[in-house]
Amino acid sequence: MHIGIAGAGLMGRLLGWQLLRAGHQVTLFDRDHIDGEASAARVAAAMLAPFSEVVNCERQIFDWGLASLELWPQLLKQLTSDSAQKIDYQQRGSIVVAHQQDQAYLDQFNQLLQTRASQYSDDIDLLTQNDIAKLEPTLAQRFNNGTFLRREGCIDNWGLLNELASTISRLGGNWHSNVDVNSVGPNTIISNNISHRFDLAIDTRGLGSKPQLSDLRGVRGEVLWVKAPEVHLSRPVRLMHPRYQLYIAPKPNQLFVIGATEIESESMSPITVRSSLELQSALYSIDSGFAEANIVKAYANCRPAFIDNLPRIDYEKGLMRINGLYRHGYLLSPTVLMTALNYIGDSNTSKSNDISENNDHSLIRFTDTEKVISKSTHSMTTATHSITTATKASAQ
Ligand SMILES: Cc1cc2nc3c(=O)[nH]c(=O)nc-3n(C[C@H](O)[C@H](O)[C@H](O)COP(=O)(O)OP(=O)(O)OC[C@H]3O[C@@H](n4cnc5c(N)ncnc54)[C@H](O)[C@@H]3O)c2cc1C
Repeated sequence: MHIGIAGAGLMGRLLGWQLLRAGHQVTLFDRDHIDGEASAARVAAAMLAPFSEVVNCERQIFDWGLASLELWPQLLKQLTSDSAQKIDYQQRGSIVVAHQQDQAYLDQFNQLLQTRASQYSDDIDLLTQNDIAKLEPTLAQRFNNGTFLRREGCIDNWGLLNELASTISRLGGNWHSNVDVNSVGPNTIISNNISHRFDLAIDTRGLGSKPQLSDLRGVRGEVLWVKAPEVHLSRPVRLMHPRYQLYIAPKPNQLFVIGATEIESESMSPITVRSSLELQSALYSIDSGFAEANIVKAYANCRPAFIDNLPRIDYEKGLMRINGLYRHGYLLSPTVLMTALNYIGDSNTSKSNDISENNDHSLIRFTDTEKVISKSTHSMTTATHSITTATKASAQ
C-alpha cells in the first residue's frame, strides 16, 4: 500500500518506520523541520512512569503503560539493527520525594498508589534516607524518605526522534518537511492546498488535528532542558508539589529535563517567568549542583488530549486518526503503535515482526458504540473505533 502520514511527531515517525519495515510505501508531511522542534514529542521529558501516573489517571493508562514497557526494548532493538545507533533507554526505577512542608502530598501519593496498584507491591519500595543514599547519594543529602518505583524509566527522546527520521529516509520514506497539512480525509491528504491520494491516509498531527477533531483539546506544558555537569542523578526523580508533580529526567551528555507545568490552555506562547522560576527553584531544591547548570532549551507546547484523557484510534475506510496521547505519548506509544499496525491488518507485519508475535493482540479490543470487535473478527468497515479496554494478561 502507499500510505500517507500527516504529522511526523512521535506517532507519525513510529508508524512511518514500522510501515516501511512492513514493505509499504510511506509519505510523511509535517509543517516543521525534520528535527521536530515544534512537536510535543521533542519537548517531552519522555518519562515512562505508569506507577506515578496511575495515581491521577485512568487504569487503562497503567495497563497499556506496563505493556509498552515490555515493547520498548524490542522496538529499540529493531531500531538499532536498522540504524546501527543505540538509543539511550533506562528502566532502573524512579524515586519520588517531597520537601518537609509537602510531606502530606507524598503520603497521599503512597496511599493512592497502594490502592490503585495494589497487586504490584513488589515494584514499590518505601525508602529511608539510607536507602536513598544507596540509589542516589546526592539526593539523600536533602531528603530523608521517599518512594522507589522499580519499573519506571525514561528514554532519550531527542535521540529517538533523530534516529527515526534518518531511518525513515534510509528505508526510502518520502518526507515533506515545512509543509502545512490543510486537512486529512479518506485516502487524501491536502497539503499546501494540493491534494495527495493514498491507499490509506493517517492523521497523527497531535493538537494540529483539532480543526478535524472537535473533541480534542490542548493541555499546555512547560519544561526546561539544562546541562548540569555537576549533577550526578542517574534516575528520574519526581518531586511532590502543591500544583503539579514536578520531575527531573536525566538524558545523555549531562542533560536533564525539569518539567512540567500542566495548564488547561492551548497557548503555545513561550514559557512564563513564573513557570520558569518555579521549575528552576525546584531544580535547585533537589541538588545545588543545578545552580551552575546552563539552560539549553525552555520549551512550551501542548499535550493533545480528549475529554477522558485516553488515546484513541478512529478508523474509517481509507483513513485512520491516532490522537489523544496527552501526557502519556512515550509511555503508551508502543501499545498504540502495535494496535494501529494490527488494525491496518498487514499480514507481513504480523508474520515477520517478532514484536507482534510476542504480544497477544486478541487481548486488545476495539469498541464502537454498537459492538465489540476483536482483531480476529473485525473488518475494515466505516465504523469508528476507540481503544478502550486493552489489557495485558500479566497485568490482571
Ligand atoms: C511538556 C510536555 C512533557 C511531556 N512529558 C511526557 C513524558 O514524560 N512522558 C510521556 O509519555 N509523554 C510526555 N509528553 C506527551 C508526549 O510528548 C505526547 O503525548 C506525544 O508527543 C504526542 O504524540 P503525537 O505524535 O500525537 O503529537 P506530536 O508529537 O506533537 O506530533 C505532531 C506532529 O504533527 C505536526 N503537525 C501539527 N499540525 C500540522 C499541520 N497542520 N500540518 C503539518 N504538520 C502538522 C507537528 O509539527 C508535529 O511534528 C509530554 C508532553 C509535553 C508537552
